[in-house]
Amino acid sequence: MQDLKSMTLEELRVVLVSLGEKAFRADQLYQWMHVKLAVSYEEMTNISHTLKDLCNKNFWYCSLSLIRVQESKLDGTRKYLFALRDGNVVESVWMRYQHGNSVCVSSQVGCRMGCRFCASTLDGLERNLTPSEILEQVYAITRHTGERVSNVVVMGTGEPLDNYENLLRFIRLLSDENGLHISQRNITVSTCGLVPEMYRLAEEKLQITLALSLHASNDEKRRSLMPIANRYSIRELMDACENYFCKTGRRITFEYSLVGGVNDTDRDAEELTELAKPLNCHINLIPVNPIKERNYVQSETKRVIAFKNKLERNKINVTIRREMGRDIDGACGQLRRKHISGELA
Ligand code: SAH
Repeated sequence: MQDLKSMTLEELRVVLVSLGEKAFRADQLYQWMHVKLAVSYEEMTNISHTLKDLCNKNFWYCSLSLIRVQESKLDGTRKYLFALRDGNVVESVWMRYQHGNSVCVSSQVGCRMGCRFCASTLDGLERNLTPSEILEQVYAITRHTGERVSNVVVMGTGEPLDNYENLLRFIRLLSDENGLHISQRNITVSTCGLVPEMYRLAEEKLQITLALSLHASNDEKRRSLMPIANRYSIRELMDACENYFCKTGRRITFEYSLVGGVNDTDRDAEELTELAKPLNCHINLIPVNPIKERNYVQSETKRVIAFKNKLERNKINVTIRREMGRDIDGACGQLRRKHISGELA
């Protein structure tokens, strides 16, 4: 069965016409799904029973069921746990900033990248999310909060470039002028560094921001934190970043999670400076969020500041990511794991 909510308006028109319907019915359906964010056909008042029956027979209609919401007492950040139609669960995060609301979505159920500090990957990859399942995280949160989402970051569970086709379709639907029309400039995709897909993405004529999870400034350290570093060297990554910037004009973001005693020395900051200097980039320093399955610890605050200052003195554009939702299992994959293991009452 075809997935109705993953189809573009054009595709929907073609399919409905082939089923004997008028093309404009596609526009109505599309608006119910992607603008009015209908959870089911029942809400669609101007759609005939005949068309609803036809849809029920030919398509599945993606909707997520909300299992749990945790709201941070510190900053109002909310973490959502949703069930998919096959019973798998995914988590998404809603953050309120001065410049608007941000949603962090998952792109896969689980992950096969194996980063050492990350909770999402501990049980490996279950499956890819469909475009509609990624979209629906934004839609469900919009419905739940009653507020518009202005920024979307693909930084939840999963490696987005490992689910390339569905990711691309998700981005196109999310930014479609006939849908929620979220500006591509407000969409960020974070990757652990799949080099061929980074080159491919550069050719897609998108205005999204690409964030690279770097986390180390030399290959040896990176390999100890991220298995993907055995496949691609930092040199290859930097070339792919430069290419991305040349082709799209979009500044790259480097994410660098500071792990106490592992990647936070002055020497690390110097090496990072050398990597960042030739590129038009921005560095986001993230104090590592410790997970109980590993014994990584956060760098001390004064070390984080010293690290930042060293980069700044070298005229590198750098910010320390404000930690949000620390009290609500904010780190990638923590809430889903707790749910699966039955730790949540
Ligand atoms: N797979 C993609 C996106 C998901 S992770 C990627 O690797 O970029 C989003 C970001 O959070 C990545 O930079 C990831 O390395 C980082 N991250 C994961 N677990 C973390 C933790 N426990 N503490 C700090 N950052 C973490």
